[in-house]
Amino acid sequence: MGAELIDGKAFAARLRARIAGEVAALKAAHGVTPGLAVVLVGEDPASAVYVRNKGKAACEVGMESFEHRLPAEVSQADLLALVARLNGDPAVNGILVQLPLPAHIDEAAVINAISPEKDVDGFTVLNVGRLATGQRAMVPCTPLGCLMMLRDRLGPLGGKDALVIGRSNIVGKPMAQLLLADSATVTVAHSRTQGLPDLCRRADIVVAAVGRPRFVQGDWIKPGAAVIDVGINRTEAGLVGDVDFDAARRVAGAITPVPGGVGPMTIACLLANTLTATARVHGLPEPD
Ligand code: NDP
Repeated sequence: MGAELIDGKAFAARLRARIAGEVAALKAAHGVTPGLAVVLVGEDPASAVYVRNKGKAACEVGMESFEHRLPAEVSQADLLALVARLNGDPAVNGILVQLPLPAHIDEAAVINAISPEKDVDGFTVLNVGRLATGQRAMVPCTPLGCLMMLRDRLGPLGGKDALVIGRSNIVGKPMAQLLLADSATVTVAHSRTQGLPDLCRRADIVVAAVGRPRFVQGDWIKPGAAVIDVGINRTEAGLVGDVDFDAARRVAGAITPVPGGVGPMTIACLLANTLTATARVHGLPEPD
């Protein structure tokens, strides 16, 4: 008996279809079209692909997409001026500055210049603080997608033992906050953690965000556990996750594949956040 596959691609397609319906309804009832601005600095090919996919996904659900490409040598002042312009533009409801930024730019200064109400990545300190204190926040897309899949599969997460492997600002930490807000008992592991396999064997929920191919072993998984694999690692064998999928799926109750798990949900959640930001700015009921 193998684990149930959590099909992120299908889940994301349903979410996008729902968003498209809500965007159409918003237009019809209020004449409002959600707008997403994506800022790309430099020529990094992976970032260029992400930016293109995000813009395309926004258009597909009927949103307006604004793409801003700046040369790698753009000054911090010019980048901040663009962010300020987008903050003040009523056609723009969501702003995303693709990371990483070139080394001469202070990434935190640029991110924190984004209006928190338009911060659809949820990376500004204000939104991080709101999430941590249980206030209405914009939640980072990748962990939000993971949470949606976990709730869908497990129902309420209260009292579950959850292990998050990784403590980055974009995945591990917000994931831990979201699980905590849902009343799971949360452990956060990182490169200095001792006895990781045993911590993992206790966990009903494992979220792996490490960036090391097949790092989490099959015999670390508690029978029946839900395993969310955030990792995207390019290897000679193709794209693989942070979990040894073939071994883990024999033990787990449910598991996300790579590709086709967390990845598609991340973009769908970006659209969901853009819709939420639009509803909030117009004082309309928020989508579920
Ligand atoms: P980071 O490199 O920022 O963080 C990796 C984390 O893993 C760090 O906290 C690090 O610990 C921890 N770690 C490293 N080695 C070990 C170890 N031996 N044992 C335990 N923990 C360890 O990565 P991200 O969080 O940005 O991304 C993680 C993965 O998720 C990557 O593969 C990335 O490509 C992928 N990703 C996928 C997304 C998607 O949409 N599917 C979106 C974002 C990321 P320490 O802090 O001590 O260094």
